[in-house]
Amino acid sequence: DDEMSDKATLLARRERLLGRNMSLFYQDPVHLVRGEGVWLWDADGRRYLDCYNNVPHVGHCHPRVVEAIARQASTLNTHTRYLHEGILDYVERLTSTFDHRLNAGILTCTGSEANDIALRMAQVVTGRTGVIATNHTYHGNTAAVSQLSTRMPPVGGYGGHVRHVPAPDSYRPLGGALGEAFSAAFAAEVEKAIASLEESPHGFSALIIDPFFANEGFPDLPAGFLDAAVAAVHKAGGLIIADEVQPGFGRTGTHMWGHQRAGIVPDVVTLGKPMANGHPVGGVIANVDTLNAFRKAFRYFNTFGGNPVSCAAAMAVLDVIEDEGLIENARAVGEYTRSGFARLAAKHAVIGDVRGSGLFMGTEFVLDRATKEPGPELAATVINEMRKRGVLMGKIGIYQCATKIRPPMPFSREHADLMLSTLDDVLSSL
Ligand code: PMP
Repeated sequence: DDEMSDKATLLARRERLLGRNMSLFYQDPVHLVRGEGVWLWDADGRRYLDCYNNVPHVGHCHPRVVEAIARQASTLNTHTRYLHEGILDYVERLTSTFDHRLNAGILTCTGSEANDIALRMAQVVTGRTGVIATNHTYHGNTAAVSQLSTRMPPVGGYGGHVRHVPAPDSYRPLGGALGEAFSAAFAAEVEKAIASLEESPHGFSALIIDPFFANEGFPDLPAGFLDAAVAAVHKAGGLIIADEVQPGFGRTGTHMWGHQRAGIVPDVVTLGKPMANGHPVGGVIANVDTLNAFRKAFRYFNTFGGNPVSCAAAMAVLDVIEDEGLIENARAVGEYTRSGFARLAAKHAVIGDVRGSGLFMGTEFVLDRATKEPGPELAATVINEMRKRGVLMGKIGIYQCATKIRPPMPFSREHADLMLSTLDDVLSSL
């Protein structure tokens, strides 16, 4: 039919114009034409509930963000080598949400650039280059940062300056124990990696982690989980880089930042994705002394980073988060949704675990609850069946068997009910 042939044409054009192996979601890809709030529409006018996209943080095409972009774009847009209040007002407002030591920033266009800068800051401050990351992470796409990511090993392998430690997994904890032992096991791995780097010519400069471990499958971590690892890093003179690209801007419902939820104060924080609701904005927040050292060493300039339109968009996002009470909404609706998942887990044995915080959560699918054998194909089937029924979600985690549910922040109980009843239908039909 027409829809199929339109899709076939688009797929052929993509391959011809963009190259092969550019991955798409779903067996039957979705051709989107419009978005509003938590809803997306395809070319046939079909509506989908968006339970996946965190970039449109305050909702797809939020009128206040759209208006802020349009107003500034029709007034002035330039780089940051001229004076302009936009970037100052924004960085002032943004840093007011952090610990007083994290008091200055650099604006970029992507999270990858932000992490690239963070690594270089750690190099300047410590005079060393060794970096520790988790073994199931993703921190971006630049040459330096992709050295840390483990989905696709870099050509030529990892540099000698990189060490990977096991990502914490609350469902299958290292050594089998939770609580303090879980935290100690993670810290011991970090200490081992520090020692290994200290014996190498690279030395140890930084531990980079997402304090919520989002790409690792967002384990439920006990309070103080990171304390021992952070202490080990600081004792060795290294920096903690908190990658807040995923948990930042209140998504976890309890705090504005994932590291605040984890109860730690990092040395450098990196930001991206939801920062300007889809307009490309990222950033690095650190102490002004760290920034000064970095700027002196590298004379960093980013042509688009911090331009007045980006700052207007990012400021509008902060306004909406506050005015619409979106962090509290994430907390309340997230809790409500997870209790719905728990009810589904009582009915469907394939749900092995329910976890997350605020509007960042999912269920882990297993073939056997006793052995916890991961069910990545099962998760893929569920995701595709949900898509057929008009609900978009993703999958993630160490075994790629956890659903990744991370909707725009105005997600409501009614939206959760629709997602949960659709999931119940899908699981009943398997
Ligand atoms: N850090 C994390 C934790 C991410 O998940 C991502 C993107 N998925 C990035 C960094 C990179 O951000 P960007 O794609 O904007 O470069």
